[in-house]
Amino acid sequence: MMTRSTFTLGLALWLLVMQSSPVLATTMHKEEVSCPICGQKLTVRRIMSTNNFGGQDRDFCEHARGAQPLLVGPTTCARCLFTGYPDDFDKKPGPELEALRKQLLEQKPLKARGPLELNWVRRDLHIQYLMLSDALDERLLADMYLRIAWAVRLEMNPLTPYFHRLTEEQHGRVEKLLPKEQNARRADKARGDLLAARFLIAKIDELEREEKEAALIAAAYMLRNRGEHGLLSEILPKLKEVLPEGEAGSLIEKTKASIELEQAYQRKALAAIDEHLKLKSLPDEGFPDSMKVYVYLAGELARRVGDLDRARSAYRRVIRLQPVDWLRKLAQEQLALVEKKH
Ligand SMILES: [Zn+2]
Repeated sequence: MMTRSTFTLGLALWLLVMQSSPVLATTMHKEEVSCPICGQKLTVRRIMSTNNFGGQDRDFCEHARGAQPLLVGPTTCARCLFTGYPDDFDKKPGPELEALRKQLLEQKPLKARGPLELNWVRRDLHIQYLMLSDALDERLLADMYLRIAWAVRLEMNPLTPYFHRLTEEQHGRVEKLLPKEQNARRADKARGDLLAARFLIAKIDELEREEKEAALIAAAYMLRNRGEHGLLSEILPKLKEVLPEGEAGSLIEKTKASIELEQAYQRKALAAIDEHLKLKSLPDEGFPDSMKVYVYLAGELARRVGDLDRARSAYRRVIRLQPVDWLRKLAQEQLALVEKKH
């Protein structure tokens, strides 16, 4: 049976990370293991330390500088598609494992939705695998789907090579376009990126072609990297003004596909949160703090899939529930954001 602690950092831990000071680097440790289902030898990686220098998005997606720890786990056996975290590879032999082995090897119920090198594909397989043997509770399922959406955000950004191709001079020009106070945006990088992108977009039509290209690519890259799809979808067609037509068309299509993939998992997370909150439907005065985070998250996910009415009412509900300070501030900030429409 799966235990919660073996396979993932719980949401609570991510919240703690948000409140703690940054550490220096992401370091990993490799181990050789055997697949408990088919015996294949493979390498698993454990995260030993990480950092949060890249800031945290408002749905709690943590960005590290350097390797992204979120993209490390879980590991999939390429031969039989068994998927798990390092400790899951130490499964003890027994009737339960025997039944799973028979099922996996004979019926092949697990389906990879893309290449196994991609973390979101392995996370999707992990859910499929756990569903064979466990009744996953809705809270756990919500956390797992949320992480798949984050993995898509971090590893499926088609604008990344375009952003990295900008020269130092182009980066410098983009920085110069931003107001001075924007240089202080490192303190809250997620919010800073969103403000910078908005600022660049407001100016974009006044810019000369080359400057426009750099500003548009930087803004689009930052928005995709933060999963801010409402504003991104509005500016995507402008790529045709700065890139050759065929190239722009293909980049726009790939970006839309990656947005849709992230949103598909956000909708699954949202449905699981709805079920989770339904189970615990309580009057406002008895509402536990741990659940208020999910009311907020439901709002944030609704905003990210484009349901702004639902987002507004969820943020208002969190504020009415009188949560802890940091959560109230987040809900107020995001409510102000949807009141501006994006
Ligand atoms: Zn295997």
